[in-house]
Amino acid sequence: MSPLSSTVKGEAPSVSFEFFPPKTETMANRLWDTVERLQPMAPDFVSVTYGAGGSTRERTHDTVRRIAQETSLSPAGHLTCVGATKEEVLSVAEDYWDAGVKHIVALRGDPPAGMGEKFEQYPGGFRDSIDLIQGIREHRPELGRCFEISVSCYPELHPESQGWDAEIAFLKAKQDAGADRAITQFFFEPQVYLNFLEKARAGGVTMPIVPGIMLQPNFKGLKRIAALCGSSLPDWLHELYEGLDEDEETRELVTANVAADLCRQLSDEGVSNFHFYTLNRAGLALSTCRLLGLKPNSAKAA
Ligand code: FAD
Repeated sequence: MSPLSSTVKGEAPSVSFEFFPPKTETMANRLWDTVERLQPMAPDFVSVTYGAGGSTRERTHDTVRRIAQETSLSPAGHLTCVGATKEEVLSVAEDYWDAGVKHIVALRGDPPAGMGEKFEQYPGGFRDSIDLIQGIREHRPELGRCFEISVSCYPELHPESQGWDAEIAFLKAKQDAGADRAITQFFFEPQVYLNFLEKARAGGVTMPIVPGIMLQPNFKGLKRIAALCGSSLPDWLHELYEGLDEDEETRELVTANVAADLCRQLSDEGVSNFHFYTLNRAGLALSTCRLLGLKPNSAKAA
């Protein structure tokens, strides 16, 4: 097998990376090391997730602003409707704009731990992700109109979904409210994404739907998150990680190969953009990109 036959076909794919805001100085050092090492991959954008509590939020804002100010990357700040009034959420968007952050991932979000299972609209807050997108678009039109807005979508349905028709209609409504791109929840079977794409296109969703690729080498952790968000873990994945609980090094190699293989199969179907849930781990994201044939700055060159 020639070395190139293991990479994706045609042009190098476009990638984006998701980070979470660091809680400690050690985690912050690791994130900045990750940012520096991934920067040469010339991602389309990098995004930073948003938590429910005040201090997590400050860490998200600081991280997003720092990426804008100290790197050549295009950062996107995640924003949710949880626990804040419309004015508070929109003032974060304004601060982002002033700091050079022109991209928002607009989400409804989940209630903070211990605050019940169901999302409740905060008094004076946004009702749902559509209300949030509209709020951003209408806020100071010279600024709101210019933001790039990404949203979430769920190829295996969101746990609160009322079925496929409602799910696709809801995604279309996000597009109609002003969303530019949807990023999927993670999945492991290419057909899951392809079936979803077909349903979304048939339902009038024309915006790019970028597959979200999970890079979680801790299989126990992955099982926990998957159970919460409704992503299925195929039997072959359980088998691949079986007996590796104490062997982190091998789990990482398996994780990068599983992710790259998924991307290659999607690429064969014409997919050329991938969003990686990096969990702030440079090595895994880098090795996955390498397995896809992406080299420093090759995405930009392509
Ligand atoms: P929405 O897409 O607005 O709604 C979730 C689902 O509820 C819909 O898919 C649909 O099934 C149903 N629904 C809601 N309203 C209606 C309606 N009117 N009609 C029909 N169906 C409806 N969480 C965080 O806290 N911080 C983050 O930074 C974060 N980043 C994320 C990034 C991505 C790419 C993804 C996929 C998820 C992220 N999440 C994040 C998780 C997300 O907050 C949860 O999944 C949450 O439960 C839903 O938020 P949402 O914006 O996806 O919701």
